[in-house]
Amino acid sequence: MLGLPDGIRACLFDMDGVLTRTATVHMAAWKRTFDEYLRATDPQAPPFTQLDYNRYVDGKPRADGVRDFLASRGITLPEGTPDDPADAATVHGIGRRKNELLLTELAEHGVEVYPGSMAYLRAAKDAGLATAVVTASANGEQVVAAGGFADLIDARVDGVVTAREGLRGKPAPDTFLAGARALGVAPAEAAVFEDALAGVAAGRAGAFGLVVGVDRVGQGEALREHGADVVVTDLDQLLNGGAR
Ligand SMILES: [Mg+2]
Repeated sequence: MLGLPDGIRACLFDMDGVLTRTATVHMAAWKRTFDEYLRATDPQAPPFTQLDYNRYVDGKPRADGVRDFLASRGITLPEGTPDDPADAATVHGIGRRKNELLLTELAEHGVEVYPGSMAYLRAAKDAGLATAVVTASANGEQVVAAGGFADLIDARVDGVVTAREGLRGKPAPDTFLAGARALGVAPAEAAVFEDALAGVAAGRAGAFGLVVGVDRVGQGEALREHGADVVVTDLDQLLNGGAR
């Protein structure tokens, strides 16, 4: 019915790009942030691309994304502190600029959910499975509320929880393991649903019962290589037995 192996008792969902149509909003905010920074330092610098986002940024805590992308361009910036202003040339300053752009965009356009994911969430709850959102986003609580599906989620491990508890972000498995713990299940009893390469890698590293790669941008093969056991383009394919 849910397209899951026997013995799965819980579902751990990434948020942006899996439940909510917000991965594209993140990509746009990152692109504007990085392109402005790159152009200011080197007018010839190639722009930030979707592939850069997939490889270096998506799924990771904000500061890790800044650091890893800039490293790919041979740039190292001071870390700074979380209180840095948005125009500071530091890892945290650039992260703040991106978050301000993201919040403006979300306030203007709201949070769209994937109907197939909402149907899957409801089916999982109806089948008696426990559910958690496991996201690097520091805006997890607000986005879940704005998406209108808080009542379908039993636990949330977001960027705020991750920082408070000193967990390593994806691709480390810590946040998914914390989600399983919060639901009272072993990793082998939980399925992970992820659209990011760092996210499916975290699922593999944690030895979860199943890692479902959700391919929204045509990177199915890369999702498999990084740790997805199955790849779907929408969660409703699992309901209909169409996983590939
Ligand atoms: Mg995601």
